[in-house]
Order: sequence, then C-alpha cells, then structure tokens
Amino acid sequence: MLFDSHCHLDAPEFDDDRAAVVSRARAAGVRWQLVPGTHRDEWPALREACAADAGLHAAYGLHPTFLVHHRPADLDALADWVARERPAAIGECGLDFCVEGLDRDAQQRYFEGQLELARETGLPLVVHARRAVEAVIHAIRRIGGAGRVRGVVHSYAGSEEQARQLHGLGFLIGIGGPVTYARAKRMHRVVAAAPLEQLLLETDAPDQPDCAHRGQRNEPARIVAVCEAVARLREAAPAEVAAATTRNAAQLFGIGVEGD
Ligand SMILES: [Zn+2]
Repeated sequence: MLFDSHCHLDAPEFDDDRAAVVSRARAAGVRWQLVPGTHRDEWPALREACAADAGLHAAYGLHPTFLVHHRPADLDALADWVARERPAAIGECGLDFCVEGLDRDAQQRYFEGQLELARETGLPLVVHARRAVEAVIHAIRRIGGAGRVRGVVHSYAGSEEQARQLHGLGFLIGIGGPVTYARAKRMHRVVAAAPLEQLLLETDAPDQPDCAHRGQRNEPARIVAVCEAVARLREAAPAEVAAATTRNAAQLFGIGVEGD
C-alpha cells in the first residue's frame, strides 16, 4: 500500500476524470493522498474534492508561486479555516527563488506566517523549496527549531548535508518523479544516503511525471515507478520502501493506516 504525500488532485487538469484517476490510483495500491492547497479561493473546492474519497486528505495553505493571489489578511483567514476544518497539514507554503518576478520579502512573510501557524496548532507543514533550501532551513530553524514544527520539504532537490540538517529539525523529504531520471545523480546519492524514516514518496501530480511519461499529465498511480526507483537506489525491496514511506506519511499527517 502506497501513500502519495503530495498530489494536486483538485487541479483543473483532473476536472474531466478525477474519479477515474482516483480509481486507477487505488487499483495500483495507492490508498492515500495528501492534497495540498495553493491559495485562499481554492480551499472550498479542495475540501469538496477530498470529501469524495476516504483516502484523500487536505492541507490548506498559501503557495509561494501563487503570490499574486495572496493578501495579508489571508494568513488570518487560514488560521480560522484550519481551526474549523482540522486538516492533516498546513501548506503548501515555502519559498521559490526560481520563478522570476516573485517578491522574495513577500514570500518570506507568508512562509513565516505559516511556520508560526504550524507551531501554534501543532500541525505538520508541507514546504515548497525551489532553489531555496538554504533559506527554508534558516526560517525553520528560527521559527520552528528544536522540534517545534514538523513537516516535509516536498520534491526535495537539496544536498545530502541539507537533508541531514532537515532531519535534525524534524523534517522529512518528499521524493517524486525526478528521481527516475538517470542524470539526477545528486538526488540519487541523497535518496541512497537518507535514513528510510526520513523519506516520503510523492507524485506532485499533475506535474513532475517519471521519465517514462515525460511531458504527460502525471497522476497518483504513477507513484509505483517512484517507489521502484527509490528501492533500486537503496538496494531494498519495493515492498519495504512502500511500507516504510506509508508509515512515515501516516505518522507525520496523523492518519491511521494500520489494519486497513
Ligand atoms: Zn505542490
């Protein structure tokens, strides 16, 4: 049984066949998905999408690449929404220094606001860190250090040393489609070296397909290829990687998976 720890199932790319996508995931052994939010206007539809299946769990947040949609009052709205909805996590939030034209100070304020909310609520944080792993580590250390905030840096693309630092701070790393690419040497070393209890599997669907589906819409059933690639790199059995990463996700997000 697999847990897709990061899947944008509410994205418009799935409007025509969302139920079929979930069915294919279940048929492939993917029993659970964490569906992170991106901006305030989207939260109600995200809640509705997750209500359709018991394996779908929402997180709510303000994503850095949706910066143009955010208003300072959205942080208070997020606190209210989270208090009412009691989601599995807060996010997606974080820093993106790759997309041009995104004000870094504004990104930093929204990220720090969500770190504080995670600290206050005890909910885990789903973090996006694109060419910004160092800055993300710095913010976590300052606001959520000493284990006051737990979470995951999804689609992890940092170094082995940064992964160790994140582990020390109580953060897991999410591994997705990019690990299936032969040229992703640094990521391969990170995945081979990290303790198994730090790893989560994800698809980031509809984005980041594995190398066999380059250029296509990604979907949660394809996490099987990610699991196999991780198992190969660690010289482990895919079933072992599946069981461990499902346990890690269930623990982080507080979702019962035993005996299911
Ligand atoms: Zn995402």
